[in-house]
Amino acid sequence: MTTLRDLPSVDELLQTKTVAELIAQYGRPLTLSAIRETLDTIRTRFLSGAITTLPLRDLIFAQVDAALVSWVKPTLRSVINASGVILHTNLGRAPLSDATIRAMELVARGYSTLEYDLEKGVRGSRLIHAESVLQKLTGAESAVVVNNNASAVLLVLSALANRKRVIISRSQLVEIGGGFRIPDVMKQSGAKLVEVGTTNKVHLRDYEEALAEQGGLVMRAHRSNFKIVGFTAEPELKEVVDVTHKAGSIFVDDLGSGALYDTAKYGLAHEPTVQESLAAGTDVVCFSGDKLLGGPQAGIIIGKKVLLDKIKKHPLARAVRADKTCLAGVTATLLHYLKDEAEREIPILKMMSLTPKQVKGRAEAWRQELGAGEIVEGESTVGGGSLPDESFPTFLLSLTVESPEKFLKKLRGQNPPLIARTANDKVLLDPRTVLPEQEGALLVGLKNVLKDL
Ligand SMILES: *Cc1c(COP(=O)(O)O)cnc(C)c1O
Repeated sequence: MTTLRDLPSVDELLQTKTVAELIAQYGRPLTLSAIRETLDTIRTRFLSGAITTLPLRDLIFAQVDAALVSWVKPTLRSVINASGVILHTNLGRAPLSDATIRAMELVARGYSTLEYDLEKGVRGSRLIHAESVLQKLTGAESAVVVNNNASAVLLVLSALANRKRVIISRSQLVEIGGGFRIPDVMKQSGAKLVEVGTTNKVHLRDYEEALAEQGGLVMRAHRSNFKIVGFTAEPELKEVVDVTHKAGSIFVDDLGSGALYDTAKYGLAHEPTVQESLAAGTDVVCFSGDKLLGGPQAGIIIGKKVLLDKIKKHPLARAVRADKTCLAGVTATLLHYLKDEAEREIPILKMMSLTPKQVKGRAEAWRQELGAGEIVEGESTVGGGSLPDESFPTFLLSLTVESPEKFLKKLRGQNPPLIARTANDKVLLDPRTVLPEQEGALLVGLKNVLKDL
């Protein structure tokens, strides 16, 4: 009869070649934990009667191995995005340019001048990095890069509007995504929200009246992820900025995406640009590093020096500061714009500038390689809380399979996982968002899943 005494001990297992190999791969403490946990589970199941015989050694090893594999598997993994959504927030927004990655790697690998003045050989400031590039690019007097744009908004309002009124149109009280709402971020800064206008209409006099009442900072939050259409009205940005200045107040513009180029060039709606905002006379402008800019996660604040000095000195600036890899990456991405090579170097701009014909060529090559599917017309979108309702004409590889949902699940189970979408019972893959160097892995994954059908 089997008794628990037949179960090998931890020490016995430690003598085996298999465990020695596991220790070499995973280290001794983790391997020991896996062995103990596996033996405990077997003991418990045996005592409860869930199993009546003890597993053979090979099975025990397999269970130990499975535990170790699952424990070290990162949850943050690289995936192939064939969804056609260029700035997919859930998939990490913008893939980075080679120069950006190199710059980030360089400072990550060693020491850097993060807070060191090489000229004087003394402590310097991390707040200067990216500043001169941003000044040259936008003409702004001063600039600072923080962790992300939500923290940029929080910092700007904390520094400039704590316990003061912030006047904003009701049509701009946006929820960014993941339940984050601009009005909540504003309130968090200690600012007193003063809503003007209605959901669909706001007039210049609404701002004038609010300013005449008790003054306050005026803010615009760009409607990044939705549109208001129909019976609507909104004064020009310049008009609102002018009445703000006439009242002796400050105008803060949260652009969200913050494009440095005209998105209309790619057949999309025009997204307000950073340059236009400054040209309208805004005092402080903030935008994301990883939306239409195509860089790493960051919040960029630019504007008047007196105000930026206050922002940089605020205690929250320390709490939301950018790390060295972010600063190096943002600077490298911005340099592409400065050197007029953005479209050649920045992955999301390359994706946006692909012609339907180019995309079709890639989809066709996939189809031939796989010997399956058909090429259909479709649409790619910008995503990432930018340019709602806007899309590019594209070509998709469409696969007819019995269960599209199951097929998608199997694609997600590949290594690297493949993210596609379905429509009308077809599985659709958009070459636009697949990086050229990922095509080989994509085809391997697709072949794997297709051959199991
Ligand atoms: C996206 C967005 C933010 C937040 O930017 P993150 O970089 O995601 O923190 C803030 N305001 C607006 C208008 C946005 O569109």
